[in-house]
Amino acid sequence: MPFEQITVSTTELKRDTANMLLGNSFVGLLMTVFSFSGLVFFFDNASEKVTQLQHQIWIFMMLVSVCRLADALYWKFKLSKLPFEPTAVINRFSIGLYITGAIWGFYSVLFYSTMDTIELAATMIILSAMSGGAGTVLSPSRALVAFYCTALLVPMSICALTDSNGEFFILGILGLVFWIGIFLSALRYNRFFVSTLHLKAKNNKLIEQMRIERSETEKVNQLLLTTNGKLDAANANLEAEVERRTEDLFRLSNRDPLTNLLNRNGFLKHLNQLLDTTKVLHNSLALLFIDLDGFKQVNDSLGHKVGDIVLTEIASRLRNYSEKNQLARWGGDEFVAIIPYATVDTAKAVAHAMRSGVTIPIMANDNQITLDATIGIAMYPEHGESAVDLIQQADLTMYDQKRKQRGSVGVFNETLHEEIKRDQRLCERLRCAIKNGELTVFYQPIIDVKTRSVSSVEALLRWNCDGEMIPPDIFIPLAERSGLMPEIGAWVLNRAIIDLSHWQFADSLCLSVNVSITQLLDDSFVKILDNALSSTPVAPERIYLEVTESVFANNAELVTLRLSELVQRRVKISIDDFGTGYSSLHRLQSMPFDFIKIDRSFVQNSSEESDTIIRATLLMAREFSCKTVAEGIETNEQLEHLAALGADYLQGYYFAKPMSASDFISWYNDNY
Ligand code: C2E
Ligand code: CA
Ligand code: CA
Repeated sequence: MPFEQITVSTTELKRDTANMLLGNSFVGLLMTVFSFSGLVFFFDNASEKVTQLQHQIWIFMMLVSVCRLADALYWKFKLSKLPFEPTAVINRFSIGLYITGAIWGFYSVLFYSTMDTIELAATMIILSAMSGGAGTVLSPSRALVAFYCTALLVPMSICALTDSNGEFFILGILGLVFWIGIFLSALRYNRFFVSTLHLKAKNNKLIEQMRIERSETEKVNQLLLTTNGKLDAANANLEAEVERRTEDLFRLSNRDPLTNLLNRNGFLKHLNQLLDTTKVLHNSLALLFIDLDGFKQVNDSLGHKVGDIVLTEIASRLRNYSEKNQLARWGGDEFVAIIPYATVDTAKAVAHAMRSGVTIPIMANDNQITLDATIGIAMYPEHGESAVDLIQQADLTMYDQKRKQRGSVGVFNETLHEEIKRDQRLCERLRCAIKNGELTVFYQPIIDVKTRSVSSVEALLRWNCDGEMIPPDIFIPLAERSGLMPEIGAWVLNRAIIDLSHWQFADSLCLSVNVSITQLLDDSFVKILDNALSSTPVAPERIYLEVTESVFANNAELVTLRLSELVQRRVKISIDDFGTGYSSLHRLQSMPFDFIKIDRSFVQNSSEESDTIIRATLLMAREFSCKTVAEGIETNEQLEHLAALGADYLQGYYFAKPMSASDFISWYNDNY
């Protein structure tokens, strides 16, 4: 609040006035006692009566003075410490003073006539001095000054003025002038005193206000300090929490939770960083793509828990051959590893070491499991300069290697590169092959050994790509990889069933259609078959679906389920390329197969060993009540041999190569 606006209450002013009056009253009283006693006892009086009267007045004055002193002391020591009611103090002080003043006035008038010149002058001087002193010490109250000075000076001055002795006239004048002077200066003092009191009171208020404000500020400061402390603590907590979450997030987004290796994301980040420095330093680097062989069977037959144990164990073994953060789980049973500064030879050596690590048998839940790994290697900078390229080349190399020989190590090369490029081009063309009418179904007859008549035909797909015949061994796997197989397979199934329905000349002829694994696993396959069957009058019993033995290596449970759905539709199931896959006898027994097709490699390899396999297959087929088809009969010798061994049906170039539908009709009419 601005200083001018501070208001001071009258009580406060009065309190200060009272304090001031009381403070000065001791000296005043002392002066009164001494000077009054001096006047009474110093000058001799002519009569005993006057002296007696003076003594009585003196006693009265002393009594009054003692009362005033007691009153002053009482206020001073008892009440001044407390905020007291000032009016009473001032009133009592005033009464005391009025009485004192009155005594002085009364004394000067009463004994005026008894004083000699010296005494009169002394009295006048003492009264003037007393008045002078009172002008200052009583200045807080104008009324008191006025009364006291008037009581002391005026009566005696009037006496002097009116004295018959003209010499005292001047003394009277002087007394009155002195009275006026004292009165005027008392007024000035009073004004000064009042304004000083105002200032003091205002100052006190200001100081009090400042004190309050300071204590408020201190309180606020203290509050701010505690709040700051709390905020600091909360901040620290928050920071720790953010750090922990960032770590969690990093782990979740960069690590594989099962093996605790880097995941794709983490690996790619790391590989990119490493490639940056490798580029600058002109170093080399090898990227290994590792795929486990046989893991799917473990997972399918022993369950995911065992699968997880195996993957964790393999991960820890692979760690032995790579530095921290240079090995990652790429997905499923695939791992990737970086070998910095490697040459092709060192990369191969590490890959072989990794393979031997993988092949050590693993014990998981009382099962002894033996796996292998196929590894593809791509080198920086020769085979690719970016992380994505290197991984892709290593992956393709692994894939190619797996086709050639599982459980081996291969290095990316230009031929492979060319193959990949050609595959990519073919794949693009294959997408439009159906629409462009480039696909045709050929038919190869299957002969009944006993009657030597055509029992069925196998539908075999042909692709004429700009006049170039692309073999199915090339484009079927391509269609599988690019996801085109379900669509292409559906087209073949429909086309072949329609063709069969048109062949009125052979109304008991059956039709074999190859069904690949991706078709079989496709949810819409059964519906496609139902539609194809319902669109023609061909009986389902005349349709044989050929699945290769290797389909069981993928998702045995789903494959088994799908096959039983097909059997419910009364189509027949044939196991193709028998002897080249991994199917267990147990699985074969549990599925109601109708035919087993002996792979042509056994038919054409005229060794004891092949014969043993053929005999065993025939025996087993008989046990399972299956018919057998021997593929790849090219010579009469093979025909006789297989017939003698006991095959039920024969198929091969010896009878006929796969033919177009129209060629087949001619061939059939020519021969039967
Ligand atoms: P696959 O099912 O084993 O078909 C028999 C293959 O053996 C055919 O090859 C056929 O031309 C050939 N072949 C038949 N007799 C003889 C012979 O005496 N000597 C020799 N050397 N070969 C003979 P193709 O037509 O090249 O088909 C190759 C493979 O492509 C098929 O093997 C089959 O797995 C697949 N394939 C063909 N068409 C289709 C189809 O429509 N769908 C599916 N999923 N796969 C098909
Ligand atoms: Ca076949
Ligand atoms: Ca076959």
